[in-house]
Amino acid sequence: MSILVYIEHADGAVKKSSLEAVSYAKALSDKLGGGDVIAVALGAIAEGELSKAGTAGASKVLHVNDDKLTAGIIQAHAEAVAQVYTQVGANTLVLAKSSLGDAVAARLAVKLNAGLVSNVVDLPDTSSGYQVKRSIYTGKAFAETTVSTDHKILAVKKNAVDLKTDGADAPVEAVNLSISDASFATNITSTDKATGEILLPEADIVVSGGRGMKGPENWGMIEGLAKELGAATGCSKPVSDIGWRPHHEHVGQTGVKVAPTLYVAVGISGAIQHLAGVNSSKYIVVINKDPEAPFFKAADYGIVGDAFEVLPKLTEAIKAI
Ligand code: FAD
Repeated sequence: MSILVYIEHADGAVKKSSLEAVSYAKALSDKLGGGDVIAVALGAIAEGELSKAGTAGASKVLHVNDDKLTAGIIQAHAEAVAQVYTQVGANTLVLAKSSLGDAVAARLAVKLNAGLVSNVVDLPDTSSGYQVKRSIYTGKAFAETTVSTDHKILAVKKNAVDLKTDGADAPVEAVNLSISDASFATNITSTDKATGEILLPEADIVVSGGRGMKGPENWGMIEGLAKELGAATGCSKPVSDIGWRPHHEHVGQTGVKVAPTLYVAVGISGAIQHLAGVNSSKYIVVINKDPEAPFFKAADYGIVGDAFEVLPKLTEAIKAI
């Protein structure tokens, strides 16, 4: 039996989290004794981008190049993926956990009569049954979930698996599907980016500032570091509440949840509500003048120092690389 991986893309590029899902599917296939790992992508995207799924472990990529599918219309994506899933005779669907992924997966679970586990952090334990470990309570605990259906859907948490890209490019095959008009009953007619070039929820690097930045007039330092790192900018809740930064930059339990490779927190104390939005980050760097700031407990690297001294030096040092 084969494993199908649903690939998401944005701005013409395959998302890193989807390549992680491919790596996960390949590891799962190897664990279960082989079987094809096939990726499926919907809508307009360059073939050169799609063949990358091969480097992460897919044997081929099926491309439904229908312009109407380029925007992530949930019902249409669910119908298209269900058709491809049936055509390739898969018994497992793997995808990255995301807002679109979750919405598509929930519909597919109903369509395919499949057990769905979201926020998966490890390969299933198949020694007795099919037990899947998932992250719960915003990363504070894990739950073991038993899946007893023949068909299974696993939505993999970002940064939870090692991304392997040492394989060869995969061939890309065009697939034509007939998607019902009913699936396009609601349509996305235009999309405006809320932030600058890099969207915060998708960013691979985020530089965030907190109340320790003292005021909006100092945000040039956050933006300067972000520019050098190719990062999106974020902030803590009070910072957006006071109006120093727009609300869409507010990171945390009640704001945007990010899962970058690198999260740099400057002048943020590290309250649990803020951590709830960042604890899927692969590496956390904290810059805070208080050595007792709770954020240091969650940090991989910490700089105890005044942000107004550290940030210019750090930005200059990165510029010099
Ligand atoms: P502060 O707590 O004031 O911390 C400022 C930090 O900056 C301190 O650690 C200080 O040592 C440091 N500092 C000061 N000066 C400097 C300097 N010169 N150089 C370096 N460091 C310096 N918060 C969120 O962020 N996101 C949420 O989604 C969120 N949701 C919430 C939901 C609820 C229901 C509630 C009750 C609260 C929520 N909060 C949220 C608020 C949260 O509890 C904290 O109050 C908030 O995160 C603190 O923001 P802060 O760290 O920027 O400010």
